[in-house]
Formats: sequence, structure tokens, C-alpha cells
Amino acid sequence: MKQEYKAYFIDLDGTMYMGKNRIPSAEAFIKRLQKKDIPFLFVTNNATKTTQQVADKLHNHYDTTVEANQVYTSAVASVDYLLEHHPGAKIFLLGSESLRGQLVEAGFTLVDNNPDVVLQSLDINLDYQKLEKATLAIRNGAAFVVTNIDSNIPNEKGLCPGSGATTAFLRCSTGQEPVIIGKPSSVIMEGAIHHLNEQLKAAGKQALTKEEIVMVGDNYTTDIMAGVNVSMDTLMVLTGFSSREDLVTVEAQPTHIVEDLTHWEL
Ligand SMILES: [Mg+2]
Repeated sequence: MKQEYKAYFIDLDGTMYMGKNRIPSAEAFIKRLQKKDIPFLFVTNNATKTTQQVADKLHNHYDTTVEANQVYTSAVASVDYLLEHHPGAKIFLLGSESLRGQLVEAGFTLVDNNPDVVLQSLDINLDYQKLEKATLAIRNGAAFVVTNIDSNIPNEKGLCPGSGATTAFLRCSTGQEPVIIGKPSSVIMEGAIHHLNEQLKAAGKQALTKEEIVMVGDNYTTDIMAGVNVSMDTLMVLTGFSSREDLVTVEAQPTHIVEDLTHWEL
């Protein structure tokens, strides 16, 4: 299959690798993109790692060498969103040390009491006190922003609770709907388009429109719906989470479907 796109947005888990298992067709696909000098970004909901940590993991375990700025996480997208919509905000964070560091680096003040924004992400040190503080702050009018609503983290133990499980708790305790940043939200997609175009402009190249970019991913409800929600073409791979059977009942179909990325020509 082939259609000419000028840039690619690519999911990680299930698309570039499957947990600890490599997906050689995806590794080869990245090498083909690099050889043809076609720009791409990895767009991932994982908010617990810095972009450099993601690039290091790809290099060390999956034979894929990219720059940190070719990775756009829901943490980076959240920082970009907060800089635009809540500049100078005091933030109460339920999240990782890595995300805390990125917020501080961007100039935000992290507080325990009276925040302007509650930013909720995956927090492996979550406890009742934090949930209580977040609930009361949102009930007192703080903005409720969530990096990603992935329900589970698949690992060697099984399907462990993800960021979305905490979001469900806070939805219940506050009666409020959060602003969601990660896929399938259009926020991370618009942020990724902006991020890519900043890089292209810096390299003296022309900015791209979303019609010239395609979103590649394995998960229908996150990756494909993220593309659908911003009217971007989508390329679904069957190497990960979703199968053809999952598409039988859905209205918005992926633009393209391939077994794996060896079946996609550039
Ligand atoms: Mg995936």
C-alpha cells in the first residue's frame, strides 16, 4: 500500500515494539523514513518519561536512533497546553518526578494548597491524601487537566491500573469533566503539528498541514480516533492492541490498514 505523506506521527507501544518484544518491521520502517529524509514524530501518551529517556530506550532496546525532539509525549503536550492556557499557574500535580521536573523547567510553581490547576497523570505514589487534595482543589474551582486516560498499563504482571483509573476516581469525587491532553484528544495532535512545524521552519523547510501528515498506530480508540478527531489520515497496524474484528462495529474507519509496516511503501 502506498500514499504519499510528507510526515508521519507514530505511536510507540504496539506499533514500534510490543512491551519488551521488538517489532522488526517497525524498526525497518523508521530506517526507511530516515533514508528518505521524511520527517516524523513519535506521539505517545506515556507521561512518565522525558523525551530523552524515550529516545534512549528506543536506541538501547529497539535498534531505533532518534533525537529527543522527535518524541512528543503527553507530558510535553500538557506543558505546552498549560503555557498557552494557564501561564504562570500554580499547579498541584498527581504525577511522576519526570513530569514535575518538566513543569518546573517550564517555569511553573508546584504547590500543595490553593492551586490554579490540578494536573493528573500516572502517579505510582498515589495515596488518599493526594486524591483528597485534588478533589477539594477542583471543587474549589481549580482547572482539572489530565495528561492521558489510558485505563491500563500492560506489563509482565498483567493489566495494571493506568492514569485513566485515577481520572475515573476524580471524575466521581468532583463531578467534573477534565481537559484531556493525550490521544484520542485533539490537544496532543494539535501540539504535535505545532512542534513538527517549528522544527521544519528552523530547518528552513515549509510548514505542513494536517492533510499532509498521517497518524500511524495500533490502538483504534486512542491512535486512530486521535487522527479522526483532527481530520488527519490514519494508518492502522495490526501488530499490537486492536484487530480487524474491533473495526466491524465502528463508524469511523482507519484510512489505511496493514498487517505490519513492511506492507507500507514510502
Ligand atoms: Mg499503541
